[in-house]
Amino acid sequence: MTLKIGVIGTGAIGQEHIERLSHKLIGSRVVAVNDINEQVAKEAVKRISIEAKFYADPHKLIKATEVDAVVVTSWGPTHEEFVLASIAAGKPVFCEKPLAVTAQGCKNIVDAEIAHGKRLVQVGFMRPFDSTYRQLKQALDNGEIGQPLLVNCKHFNPEVDDSYKTDMAIVDTFIHELDVLRWLLNDDYKSARVIYPRKTSKASSHLADPQIVILETVKGIVINTEIFVNCRYGYDIQCEVIGEDGIAYLPEPNQVTFRKAANLQRGILMDWKKRFIDAYDVELQAFINNVTSGEFTQGASAWDGYAAAVAADACVKAQQTGNIEPIEMPVTPAFYAQK
Ligand code: NAP
Repeated sequence: MTLKIGVIGTGAIGQEHIERLSHKLIGSRVVAVNDINEQVAKEAVKRISIEAKFYADPHKLIKATEVDAVVVTSWGPTHEEFVLASIAAGKPVFCEKPLAVTAQGCKNIVDAEIAHGKRLVQVGFMRPFDSTYRQLKQALDNGEIGQPLLVNCKHFNPEVDDSYKTDMAIVDTFIHELDVLRWLLNDDYKSARVIYPRKTSKASSHLADPQIVILETVKGIVINTEIFVNCRYGYDIQCEVIGEDGIAYLPEPNQVTFRKAANLQRGILMDWKKRFIDAYDVELQAFINNVTSGEFTQGASAWDGYAAAVAADACVKAQQTGNIEPIEMPVTPAFYAQK
């Protein structure tokens, strides 16, 4: 069976997902596209060499009989509307992060999906599909270092543009750690605190950079994450888990090591897209497989999207207050625990 997909939002990641759904992955075809900018969508269809109908109205695309499933890659504030419309139409939907821009928006989606009675939503958190994170999780689940006690992470970007503001370090950047660490540690968060070290001269006046977020989990694990989005030297994602019997490190991406000109050298990626490029493929293939098998067994659920949003809200509050802010996460409903 070939899954016929309609894509809403044909910007940067929308075009990348259309390419992989059309030319790389197994069992899918993009048959319909929508974007607020008709020309952008039509040019994308032409450049990617697919036959897909342009819909000026995203709601008509969602309801179209030739569309089996929807991929939402438009601007974040539109996600809730399009995901809710997909659920109302009974269509499976892959939504790029964030699921919605508020925790309440995510909860609305959770409630609609539970009322529908069957899982339809996968959220575009790709790190759990990355092979290096999977290796680290396997080591932890195998008990290689005993119980995890402390986690140190880095989320460094070479630079950001002028539109990037202090809260985006949480809602755009750290949101990936909020998702992946819950999955990695099989845990939920209890509290958040944010500390601002000395500010880099490379950051704009409206950005505090770097920042340190300290999370405590329900099991008592402390997670220390340095977020530094103007670090200049590379896109660098690090994670080290300190356990009772040892330390487990997130493997570095494969790069050739050089001994050359009196130096021992290893490259560091500059482009975030390259770091997780394979994970995006695996994640979207999982969506195709979830839909075609009729069982959503892989990938972030709407509940995971909600959990990340609840934690992000507390982190943003902690940025503003300087206090330790509680993260009050309700118990996972049985509907999502079956995963
Ligand atoms: P982008 O390049 O700005 O693309 C978004 C597209 O959606 C643009 O063409 C935009 O048009 C269009 N759009 C805006 N409002 C719309 C509406 N009401 N209906 C239909 N189309 C609309 O942004 P992007 O970088 O691709 O990001 C898109 C989403 O993916 C964001 O939520 C982002 O957080 C997420 N993302 C996730 C990852 C990840 O690692 N998982 C990576 C990148 C992006 P205009 O440009 O005319 O506004």
